[in-house]
Formats: sequence, structure tokens, C-alpha cells
Amino acid sequence: MRLEPNRVPFPSIPETLKTEFSLSELSLRPFGYCAEDREVNFNQPLRPYLEVEILECCTDDRRGAKPNSQFFWNMEIGKRIECLLTIATVRDRDAFMIPLRCLNSACQEGIEIDFSMEEISELQSLKNAEKFPEILVGHQTVRIRRPKGSDQLKWLEQSFKDEHTATQVMLKTLVREDDRLKLDSDAIAQGEWIPAFNQTMEEIDPLVNFQVEVQCPYCGAKDSHSIDFGAFALERFRNTQQQLLDMVHRLASRYHWNESEIFAIPAWRRESYLARLDREEH
Ligand SMILES: [Zn+2]
Repeated sequence: MRLEPNRVPFPSIPETLKTEFSLSELSLRPFGYCAEDREVNFNQPLRPYLEVEILECCTDDRRGAKPNSQFFWNMEIGKRIECLLTIATVRDRDAFMIPLRCLNSACQEGIEIDFSMEEISELQSLKNAEKFPEILVGHQTVRIRRPKGSDQLKWLEQSFKDEHTATQVMLKTLVREDDRLKLDSDAIAQGEWIPAFNQTMEEIDPLVNFQVEVQCPYCGAKDSHSIDFGAFALERFRNTQQQLLDMVHRLASRYHWNESEIFAIPAWRRESYLARLDREEH
């Protein structure tokens, strides 16, 4: 009998993306069980590459095939975050805790705030309703879309002299193709549209720069906290990769198996050998 680690369905993705990459019934597995999970380098300079690499490890279709990696770059950034959280919480989807610290300098107590995957998916999908919100640039109304991984790469590969310039480039990337001609360079340069643009981006993509109002149970201070869900998931993955390496080390030093022999053993049997070693050592 071979027990596969629990798999969960891939979060919902647009039909157009499914057709483009001929995808069917994708699922996600937890990170940190398979041989390929050892290879992921957590110290790479650009985080989106790391995030996509993890998604590639953990995504399969029903026949066990992996989607083309361009698929992950074509996914919206918020969806990528939802996927990473899904992988990180396969075992505890009902509640996961995000640790925060009270912002009141006289208090600074640790606070924990809990979320469920159901809440996260709802946040991500509710906003699908207004897919192309409108903003006013000068006298023209233009529609914008949510950023994808490939947009983010393009932005990360350039350097901007200030935030104003960066936001202008974002607008130009995210404006819908058929509204592009309406953009007027003087109106863009004046920047009156920037606050509305930033607010719209937050509304349509709540997981990207997530803000939550929290009241500290110790001092009562109420503050808005930002939560980096991607960093939270990556921290978990870094730990599970470490545990995977520890597992290899323990089994190798005790049974003198090599790495490929160890990974040929199903996860449940590896666990059982480790439990045996635990009992002998205590
Ligand atoms: Zn406090």
C-alpha cells in the first residue's frame, strides 16, 4: 500500500487560462516530501522565482503531469499567493495563525491572528466580480486589470528612479489593451490619478498587500497591520525543507542508505523508521 501525501484541489483559475495551457483537474500536494523539494534554493534574489519553483514542485494533473511553467507566470499574483497558502496549510486548512507584534512602542506584545483557507479564497474570489475596475486618468476613464507574475518580473528587472515613475509604469502595463490609446502622457505625468489607482489595486488584489485592523488584547491599541502571506508560506516551506534534509541525514547515518534509496521509500514508511529511531533514542 502506498499512501500519497494529502492532495488538495488547485484554487479556481479562469477558463481562458485552462484552455490556453490545456489543463485539467490540477491538484496541489504539500511541500517537503519529495526528492525534488530538496533542490529548491531559498536564497535566490528574486522571490517570484522561488514562489513559482515551489508551485511547480507541488502541482500535478490527474495523470501526474506538470503544467508548462509559463502557466504559473501567467497567473495573477494574488492567485499565486492563494496557491502558496493552500500548499502551506494542507494539514490545517481550518485555521492558521499569523504572528504579529503590537505596534504600540510601550507594549510590543506578540499577537496572533488566525485565518482559514476558506476566508482567504473568499477574499481572492469576491473581488473577481469587478474584474476590470475603472479609474480616471486626466479626463479619460480607463479600465485596469490585476497584475500577473510576468508583469511583476518585468517590473523587478527594471530600476525606477522613484515611486512615482514606478506607478506610471504599472499603470501603462495594467491598462486594458483597448483603452491604451486613451492614455495621455501629460495626464499620466501629473499623477493626480495615483491615489485612486493605489486604492483600486488594494481593493481588487487584497492578498498582495494585505492590511488588517487589529486591536491588541494587552494594551487595547488599534492599528492597521500589513501581512505578507507569501513570506509566511515561504517560512513554512523553508522549515519543511530543513526537516526533509534532517530526515535524510538521520536515515542515512543509521541505515546507511543513500539519498535515492531513501526517497524510494514511501513517506509513511520513512515516518515509521523515524518513529522507531525516536523510541530507541529515548
Ligand atoms: Zn499592545
